[in-house]
This record gives sequence, C-alpha cells and structure tokens, in this order.
Amino acid sequence: MWQVIGQTRAVALLQRSLETDSLAHAYLFIGPAHVGKMKLALNLAQALNSEAAEPPCTQCVSCQKVASAKHADIQILGLSHDGNSTGDRPRAEISIDQIRQVQHSASLPPFEGRYKVFIIDEAELLSIEAANCLLKTLEEPIGKVVFILLTTNERLLPATVVSRCQLVELFPMPVGEIETALNRNWGVEPEKARLLARLSHGCPGWAISAALDDSLLHHRAEWLDGLLDIVNADCEERFAYAAQLVAQFSQNRGFVHERLNLWLDWWRDLLLVKVDSIDNVTNIDRLDKLSDIARGYSLAQIRAFIRSIQAAGVQLRQNANPRLVLEVLMLDIPEVKRGEGVLLPDLR
Ligand SMILES: [Zn+2]
Repeated sequence: MWQVIGQTRAVALLQRSLETDSLAHAYLFIGPAHVGKMKLALNLAQALNSEAAEPPCTQCVSCQKVASAKHADIQILGLSHDGNSTGDRPRAEISIDQIRQVQHSASLPPFEGRYKVFIIDEAELLSIEAANCLLKTLEEPIGKVVFILLTTNERLLPATVVSRCQLVELFPMPVGEIETALNRNWGVEPEKARLLARLSHGCPGWAISAALDDSLLHHRAEWLDGLLDIVNADCEERFAYAAQLVAQFSQNRGFVHERLNLWLDWWRDLLLVKVDSIDNVTNIDRLDKLSDIARGYSLAQIRAFIRSIQAAGVQLRQNANPRLVLEVLMLDIPEVKRGEGVLLPDLR
C-alpha cells in the first residue's frame, strides 16, 4: 500500500511502471516542500525491494528497513544527509565527491535487495560539477539501479539532467482532504486539524509534523507575534529586526524565507478579510485580530505590501544584498490609516 497521502496520479504512474516492468532508470519528482516527494520516493524504493506479492507492502523486513533508513541498497543524499560537511557552516551544494561515491556504490551489485535506489533530495543544490558527473551515470544506465531526484523547482537543474529523467509532478492537495486525513488517520481534534490543514497550504508533510510536534505551532505563534510587533514599531526597531534577520540569513536562508512566507500569509489574510472572503483565510485561529487590523489599511496598501514581501523573497533568492532587501522591506511597511473603518477606494 502506498503511504503517500493524495498524489493519485503520481502513484498510478509508478504503479503502472512496476506492473508493466517499464521502470525508468531515473525519476525527477517535482513538487513544493512537504508535499510528499520523499515519502513517495521511499515508497517506490520499498516497492522495488518488497518481498510481498503486491508491493510496497510496508510490512515486510525489507520495507521496514527502507522506512527506518537501514536498508543497505537505499541511499539518500542531500545537504542534510551527508556527514562530510566541514566546520560550522553548512555546505550550500551537493558536491561532486558525494556523486562520485554514489557512482562507485551504483557500480556494485545490490547487497541485500533487488534494486539499488539513490534518492537525491533538493537536487537543485547539485553543484555544476556534481550535476555533470551525475549526468554521465544517467546517460549510461546501470541495470537494477534507480535514481530518484527530488526538487521544488526543476528549472534550477541543468536541462541535460532533467531530460534524462522521467518527470513526476506532485501537487498540493485540497486543504479539506488534509483536514480529514489529520482527523481520521492521526486523531487530531477537528479545530486543530482545520488550522493545520490551512497552514500546510496543501502539503500534508508539514501538517503531520505539526500534529505530532506542538513546538512547530508554538514557534509559528511566536514568529507571527514578532512580525506583528514590527508593524507597530518605530524605524530603529524595524532596522534592528532586519539586522537580526540578516544575521540569520547567513546561517540559514530557509529560516528567513519561512518568516517571509509567514508574513505573506498574514497580509494575504488581511486582503481576504478586507474583501469578506473569510473561508480562504489561512490564519483561521486569529480571525478577530485579522479583522481588527484589516480595518486600519486600505486594499491598495495591503496589496502593495504583499508585492513588497514577494519582491524581497525573489531578490533574496537572486542573491541580492540581504541587508538592503530587508531594510527596504521594513521601510515598505504601510502606515495605519487614520479614520479607520472607512474603506478607501483602490486607486492603484
Ligand atoms: Zn514489503
């Protein structure tokens, strides 16, 4: 039984390949973070090595070894999975050495299963040399070896690599389905399931993690409070906050993008509340606060700041100077309009 939630099209495609013995040597799973790419890759690795008649069974010794990352023929590599990074700074790329090790391992026959499976997480982080090195392997497939590359954005991978892979797209699920799954499969109480499903943006991995680990929701509340405080702070405090983010950015880029996404959700919610589209609000647990705050801004102000947050995200991804980007964003925070309660005409 495939354990990935939703993704019926992707599962059907892989199931058909297994049944008709028409497996590709390399797959590229494309989809947003937490949508289920790694789960699906592990399910495929299980299916390829399962001892059951209808794989993946998830119950046999082989399937359980894959699930607990103890199967000798399944290797996962990526930035967070190699033990070779030196010093305190996380390495920003998947290196050619990692790929050379993979090539060596791929040249040896399976140790305990039928197939060797190499899962490359965040494949867009392959260095140019690593990608070229991998390309050679993909161009000369080895029997009983399957590569599964995972990415949020295939455009960040060399076209030559992409063209050697069978593409499998994973899509965000309807929020209602995640809500039901959380409630039914994980016993999450309805109100919390509703909130987590919305915060997950259709990507069940995050919602499940947050259901099992309360600290995720707790941190989200803290971060959101911090971002809301900044809106009411003076210029000096805003710049100090920007400086904090810049320091964090040099350590962990994802951390800052997460903050920006949180802020983006918040301001989108303000927009939705402003146009009375409450059903689509993400931060459903803060509806009263959203309504209060929305009264202080015009639609044009909210829209303009949403564009500013989006632009900041794009600029950071394009390696613009983070201090400059984040300080400009702080300056773009709109002023609360006086005479609140009046919906100003949208002049933009
Ligand atoms: Zn099995």
